Amino acid sequence: MNTIKNVLIPVENGYDTLDVQIVDNAIAAISPGIDATKSAINGTNKLLLPGFINAHTHSSEMWQRGIMSGFPLELWLAELYDFAPLDIEKVYLSALGTAVETLLSGGTTVVDHLVLIPGKELETIATAVRAYKEVGIRAFVAPLIQDESLSAGIPSGESEQTHEPYFRSTQATLEIISEAVKQFHRPDEGIYIATAPTGIQLCSDALFTGCIELSEKYDLCRHSHLLETKAQEKLAQEKYGCSAVEHLKRIGYLSDRTSLAHCVHLTEADITILAETKSTVVHNPLSNLRLGSGIAPILKYRQAGVNVTFGCDGASSNDSQDLLEAIKIGSILHNVTDFDYQHWITPRQAIEMASLGGAKGLNMADELGSLTVGKKADLVMYDLTSLSLLPRTDPIGLLVLGRPTNVVDSVWVNGKQIVADGKVKTIDVDNLRQELFSHSQWQTTRKSQTVAQIEAHYRTVMGL
Ligand SMILES: [Zn+2]
Repeated sequence: MNTIKNVLIPVENGYDTLDVQIVDNAIAAISPGIDATKSAINGTNKLLLPGFINAHTHSSEMWQRGIMSGFPLELWLAELYDFAPLDIEKVYLSALGTAVETLLSGGTTVVDHLVLIPGKELETIATAVRAYKEVGIRAFVAPLIQDESLSAGIPSGESEQTHEPYFRSTQATLEIISEAVKQFHRPDEGIYIATAPTGIQLCSDALFTGCIELSEKYDLCRHSHLLETKAQEKLAQEKYGCSAVEHLKRIGYLSDRTSLAHCVHLTEADITILAETKSTVVHNPLSNLRLGSGIAPILKYRQAGVNVTFGCDGASSNDSQDLLEAIKIGSILHNVTDFDYQHWITPRQAIEMASLGGAKGLNMADELGSLTVGKKADLVMYDLTSLSLLPRTDPIGLLVLGRPTNVVDSVWVNGKQIVADGKVKTIDVDNLRQELFSHSQWQTTRKSQTVAQIEAHYRTVMGL
């Protein structure tokens, strides 16, 4: 049992100073004057919020942050995969790093759309699971799967294109996910496997359908990229003769436990479908800027009643893993897309999107995402005496709109305190720093073979 004494909590018209009692894994009481002589934690001059959800990332991209060329997604992916780490130890270290950076920027849950090392798929999943368990963060491990080769993700245009078959069959891929569920899906322990076909650009209907079946059989979330680029919008028309959203609705993929990363190029009709199916949009503003994908029409989604939350996306397209930064940019970006300022996202709305919005997308709104008695204690406490949160104004306003640095004082996940005094208690972060250092080197330029092969076709078909 922990009782946080005299902590600032947002209420309807401002803030209250209250005590919050955590018993086992849940919030047991929120009120003034809770008697707690033995188990008290001083919350004076601190702000308590529900943990945010980093609702879309790819942990192993950490190894290529800061070096990727300035390419749009289709070419960027080719470069990424040419240099992707094939070493299990690196998968472990970057999952630890992703977890730590998420915790220290206000997150208590991470959705890792995990890139699998070919031939070592289950080992990759096991390794990420081990890292997240060690840190103690709540983790949705969503193995990134596809059954078409990379070049199939670029529209053909006028040309006749043939593509190499993917190296693994659809059936074999589905069997890996099924096995991963049996071995690692442990909601009680805060580890969840999600079905995660990468997106319409590289997945057959058979793969989507197989994922729907697994999701229904084992009660799993569904997670995919959706219409991140102009090229994907074009490709959907070539592939299906309709929009990707219409097609995904037709095959039954969209649901209240389906979260869709990016959603940049959707039509009005697509937006209506997302609202009707209660699907969740994961907004990854930094990645969309970095790859020139476009600006997702987030305010239109909100007005249509579509649930929206935030993700950092992988660190190669960000090039960080700072959730507070994603929330800030993901909010104020839309002050330039939408003229009517009454629809702009306020700091309090941003906080709710990042917490409750994320929980909804994972079908866990009853258990996570707000400071509510009975919900799981996934909590973050911010130090309001930190230099970047001074002088004193509106704490949430400054947290979202400012540039908070080293402001996370404490984090609880499932009732267990895993960050205290700004330090992760569960793993040795200094050792992690040394390992990340020794497994890497300074680099400048490099040449991707695959980009050289596909760039001319990409430029032609995209009219460049
Ligand atoms: Zn992604």
